[in-house]
Amino acid sequence: MQEVSIITPVDGSTYAIRARSTDTQLEDALQAARAARLPWGTSTVAERAAVCTAFVDRVVAMTDLIVDELAWQMGRPIRFGPGEIQGFTERAQHMISIAESCLAPIASEPLDGFDRYIALEPLGLVLVIAPWNYPLLTAVNSIMPALMAGNVVVLKHASQTLLVGERLQRAADEAGIPGGVFTNLVLSHEQVGRTLADNRVDRVNFTGSVEGGRSIERAAAGTFTEVGLELGGKDPAYVRADTDLEFAAANVADGAFFNSGQSCCGIERVYVERSIYHEFVDAMVAEAGALDLGDPTKPETTLGPMVTARAADAVRLQLSEAVSDGARPLVAKTAGAWNDNTGSPYLAPEILVDVDHSMPVMTRESFGPIVGVMPVDSDDEAIEKMNDSNYGLSASIWTADPEAARSIGSRLQTGTVFMNRADYLDPSLAWTGVKDTGRGITLSRLGYTMLTRAKSYHLRLTPPGGL
Ligand code: NAP
Repeated sequence: MQEVSIITPVDGSTYAIRARSTDTQLEDALQAARAARLPWGTSTVAERAAVCTAFVDRVVAMTDLIVDELAWQMGRPIRFGPGEIQGFTERAQHMISIAESCLAPIASEPLDGFDRYIALEPLGLVLVIAPWNYPLLTAVNSIMPALMAGNVVVLKHASQTLLVGERLQRAADEAGIPGGVFTNLVLSHEQVGRTLADNRVDRVNFTGSVEGGRSIERAAAGTFTEVGLELGGKDPAYVRADTDLEFAAANVADGAFFNSGQSCCGIERVYVERSIYHEFVDAMVAEAGALDLGDPTKPETTLGPMVTARAADAVRLQLSEAVSDGARPLVAKTAGAWNDNTGSPYLAPEILVDVDHSMPVMTRESFGPIVGVMPVDSDDEAIEKMNDSNYGLSASIWTADPEAARSIGSRLQTGTVFMNRADYLDPSLAWTGVKDTGRGITLSRLGYTMLTRAKSYHLRLTPPGGL
């Protein structure tokens, strides 16, 4: 039997060991899921809403347990753990509340003698592949609307956060979600690839790295399985001179460092109008200096470890390369400070200045508690710099002028334009990206269009000449 070990970033010990699902278990789960499609898919939206609401309630009831397990599995400080459950609940409840109207048949304009409408039917079996960085929040984006639309779901959670998959299974079972409708499996990449290749999945929703997304697209190639990809980002912030500087510095720092920078829509690069550049950088450095890096199981900790030592070392490498190319670190002050604990997942926050786009730190996803800051002289220059990226998930503009934000936003290559906000998903808006950030949409009314197929009803009620 193959096993998966969760090595905790808290102290490097083995936190949990789980058996990989066997091929027989995978086969049984796929058969059960496919058998459950018809009864679940033909239940009413109200019936599904009742059990899905109970599902959410069961997750909420496990808050203390989940908060503790998140800290041990991926390093989320316990003071921030409840936020993950709140976000899970907010997104789930929103998608449940709009389901009836989003899934209702779409009537054509009246035509004498005809009844014409488009019905939205479930796709069937949706495979959800979730990452560890926001293990409930990313998973709920796909799971809840898929279930509400009448699909059955198989979940493959990240190896680092397998216990989240177990908690979701427990919540679904306790809520009375029928067998086969929601199944959590511990799958290898190879098992996922095989399942996609043999065409038994109707849609796969993958959230993770660009490389992972490419593998999923390749595995599904030729099967016509629908593929939704929510991938990486290198999200920019643009701070205009008309901003509230203290507010912007505090929130941009939070957007850059929260979750140790391991957020798909975390701020990874900042462009500041030159007239306020130095003042803004000083304010951000003060914010970074106020963070308390340490054991995530302690209530005072505001910055936990990164998920693994390997991930932290990759960020250290990006930092040291930038510094050799002329960047200046302002938090650690000395160029080598972040290397002091090489091999540890605990990485202090860092702000780099004197950076440019020849440095990978400004173009490749860092996914760590570091950020580069550059001065710019105009909106045009900021827009050009923000668009100079292979990614396009979100971009934030910090300004007192909503018209300027709208106008700049219209020229940005991005999935979401924020003004005076960042690193947040509003479930009433489409979560999507451009370029290498992916394809497809989750959340919002449009999220449902990804999880249903249209069937047109064209009914002539009175044939010519009568019946
Ligand atoms: P990852 O290595 O791609 O893993 C994500 C998930 O995909 C895990 O469950 C992983 O399983 C699975 N996976 C990866 N390659 C696979 C393959 N070839 N076949 C089957 N499953 C595969 O990504 P990560 O490092 O955990 O997550 C961080 C990345 O996710 C960042 O790039 C971040 O920006 C992105 N992200 C994007 C969004 C968004 O909304 N756009 C949200 C969150 C995160 P194992 O754990 O078993 O390897």
